[in-house]
Amino acid sequence: MLLHIKSLSKSFGALMAVSDVNLEVKTGERLAVIGPNGAGKSTLFNLLTGYFSPDSGEMLFKGKNLAKLPPDKIVRKGIGRSFQIVNIYPELSVFESIQMTLIASARRSYNLFSKAKNMFLKETEDILEKVGLSDLAHVPGELLSHGDKKRLEIAMILANKAEIILLDEPTAGMAPEERLETMALISELAEKEKLTLLFTEHDMSVVFMWARRIAVMVLGRIIADGTPDEIKENPEVRKVYLGEK
Ligand code: ADP
Ligand code: MG
Repeated sequence: MLLHIKSLSKSFGALMAVSDVNLEVKTGERLAVIGPNGAGKSTLFNLLTGYFSPDSGEMLFKGKNLAKLPPDKIVRKGIGRSFQIVNIYPELSVFESIQMTLIASARRSYNLFSKAKNMFLKETEDILEKVGLSDLAHVPGELLSHGDKKRLEIAMILANKAEIILLDEPTAGMAPEERLETMALISELAEKEKLTLLFTEHDMSVVFMWARRIAVMVLGRIIADGTPDEIKENPEVRKVYLGEK
């Protein structure tokens, strides 16, 4: 088991945003967490990445509990994330962003080395090629299109040597075509690099096209967990989530 979430809960005042969640994620899985707005998906991801700390429960990554760790320690354990809003260095070029991330990940302080410019050149080029940004290597991050910014974010996750990638609505704000392209890229990379993927997404066509497994969250609880076909047929899901009687 790569990630094992046990009885995880988090409330905000009287509101149980995540309520006794149990979830197991195996290496190489591609799991979508779906559910209506306010279901607790982002809160779950914020717990997993250390931005919130749980009220109770465990989050075991390769057997070690993440529950009390801060975000930077969690990243170093191999858990990469992408936010609902893209998070890149606007003024660095695409090349520099990836190179910096590689250097930071190797925990060498680039300030101490006058030759930081020459570090990880080959690795940076490899990653650029993997995500299809080689031609834009010298463009500042802020000038990229939304889809290319997302690519850069994924590149930075790769540079951080993540084993599992958590994506909270990776295609938010994209046109339908860009959505499919972005998810295709992420899924291909996950397959090639043997990464495990845990994502939320509100576009059901994207979910059913790319998820191998789906967990449905409603009011902080996971009400169903299964293959896309199982989820489609699940009466509870159809009633509570898809609005059927
Ligand atoms: P989702 O991502 O599924 O739309 P969220 O995890 O963002 O759901 O929100 C779950 C519930 O927790 C919502 O009712 C939301 O208003 C509440 N919530 C989320 N973050 C906070 C916070 N920082 N403070 C107070 N309430 C929050
Ligand atoms: Mg959310």
